[in-house]
Amino acid sequence: MQSSILIIYTGGTIGMVQRPEDESLSPVNFDELSEEVPMLNKFGFSIDSVSFEPVLDSSNITPEIWYKLANIIEINYQKYDGFVVLHGTDTMAYTASALSFMVENLDKPIVFTGAQLPIGTLRTDGKENLITAVEIAAANKFGKAIIPEVCVYFNSKLYRGNRTSKIDSQQFRAFDSKNYPPLAKAGVEITYNTEFVNYTTNKGIFTVNYDLNANVVLLKIFPGIQKNVLESIIGIEGLQGIVLESYGSGNVPHFDWFTQLFKTAIDKGIVVLNISQCAGGKVQLGRYETSIDMKKIGVVSGYDMTTEAAITKLMFLLGQNLLKEEVIKYLGQNLKGEITA
Ligand code: ASP
Repeated sequence: MQSSILIIYTGGTIGMVQRPEDESLSPVNFDELSEEVPMLNKFGFSIDSVSFEPVLDSSNITPEIWYKLANIIEINYQKYDGFVVLHGTDTMAYTASALSFMVENLDKPIVFTGAQLPIGTLRTDGKENLITAVEIAAANKFGKAIIPEVCVYFNSKLYRGNRTSKIDSQQFRAFDSKNYPPLAKAGVEITYNTEFVNYTTNKGIFTVNYDLNANVVLLKIFPGIQKNVLESIIGIEGLQGIVLESYGSGNVPHFDWFTQLFKTAIDKGIVVLNISQCAGGKVQLGRYETSIDMKKIGVVSGYDMTTEAAITKLMFLLGQNLLKEEVIKYLGQNLKGEITA
């Protein structure tokens, strides 16, 4: 049977044109974009599209936009075999991560892609990205999707969405997944690494959870970080979670005031999740003297999670009306393939 794909165009460079007045790039509508890729019809798939109105530079994405995107997928879930989301590269890894936590019982591909150069330009990477993303979204074996995951396809590689980070703003290789292998590679053929794909076994009905809590902050430490800066952050009214980007394997300044401030935060009920500033490797609390106090006061290890996965997972768990102990427990557990715990 013919595969059916829904392309959801949210915006991003892939569909941008240069404004004559100041030469900045701004997004165009989907009709203009799709005119650039008539070869999509050659697949013989049934391809529909829906466009955000207005389309967005992904720097303007908010959790409300994640809800809107997830809702489009939820409404159309039964009608299509797979979904391709055209999205700006700047926050694509955040959106893909957020969506991975919001969806339950996913058994179809949701493939994010975009481009570093607008699709109308001669050397664009957008055409290949879009065409291969569609092929992956439609790929199935014996009627079952080969990649039933939220993922990011870019520059010949397919990555798990919540393992992906944007690593380059100039090269076509804009994304990487340091701590998890690609789910597929596109060369002459598309090779699927099915041993790394998450084939969920509990097959309930597909649902979307729209409850995120964005009262969180991302705090990257650096040599010289000042006590009053941390005091202000920790003192923010209503703050419920901190993603602490630490050094190396979870290390922080071994200063009394630093430990004391985080203890105060935790005592106030703020959840502190420790991830590493390094793109590869993992947090190992207690490995060095400079992380042992964090462990003692109740900072949670984010192991090898990306920043994007950590912040969206924290938003997701804080939105679920859980007890604080449960939030802490689930943060350290693998929910959607985001963590090697
Ligand atoms: N600023 C653009 C965006 O994220 C960059 C891109 O798409 O590559 O929407």
